[in-house]
Amino acid sequence: MKYGIVLDLDDTLIATSHVYYRALIDVMQLISKGLVPYFMYPGDMLEMYHTIESRVLSGTAPQSPELFDVHERARLAGSMFPAQLAELYIECLLSRGQIPRESEMQKAYEIGLRIFDPQNYTIVPGVRALLYFLRVNNSCTSFIITMGDEKLQKPKLQRKLFADMESLIILPLDGNKGDEVKKLAKKYDDIDEWIMIGDSVERDVNPALSRGFVACHITSMSSHISKGNIIMIGDSLSRYYQFDNLKEVLEFIKRRVLHDRAEVSLKK
Ligand SMILES: [Mg+2]
Repeated sequence: MKYGIVLDLDDTLIATSHVYYRALIDVMQLISKGLVPYFMYPGDMLEMYHTIESRVLSGTAPQSPELFDVHERARLAGSMFPAQLAELYIECLLSRGQIPRESEMQKAYEIGLRIFDPQNYTIVPGVRALLYFLRVNNSCTSFIITMGDEKLQKPKLQRKLFADMESLIILPLDGNKGDEVKKLAKKYDDIDEWIMIGDSVERDVNPALSRGFVACHITSMSSHISKGNIIMIGDSLSRYYQFDNLKEVLEFIKRRVLHDRAEVSLKK
């Protein structure tokens, strides 16, 4: 039996949530001129962030000239996220009847760009052991599929750890990992089972389940825990597995792969 293992990148292999939190806190600090809204929980800030994200993606964000300017600059930099942070800033100022100054917008934008600095990331515990197992086990073929801009996502993988990971696929933000795996399944037609490993219900788990793959959901790292419900189509729940960390995921993969092997040798 051959396995195709699809790994998500952000908050699955590398920890990025804290960088987002930090940037959000810094933008909030900029907005409130030092009066940090400490009463806000990270979850509230992420809620706000996701609201803005969906408004920007659906095109319902306010189209003021200032905003367009920030969007345009963000587009040139190749990312939506700095624009969202700057937009958060601008929206808050406008709601108070204040017009943002160019220099403040620039600051918000720079804070946003920090999100993409690979120096701010750490490797999630358990990544080394998992990647090592996948590498040496010849019944597993693994791929990293992530979303975002190639220029910004690629530097995150320029670590020795990922050096021989050639199968990096970067999809646009509105892409679908499930569709990508379908394409891969055609190319690697000797693979019997596809397993998706990721932290996001919307971006990893549901695309996997709706296309008949096994989904390993890591909940501890996630900034997306509360986002969306697990899709229920046919036997999808029987293919859904939840884990606290990558160590547990590795144990699961090992049991699945090695159990098969034991069965094969028993048949022989
Ligand atoms: Mg992720």
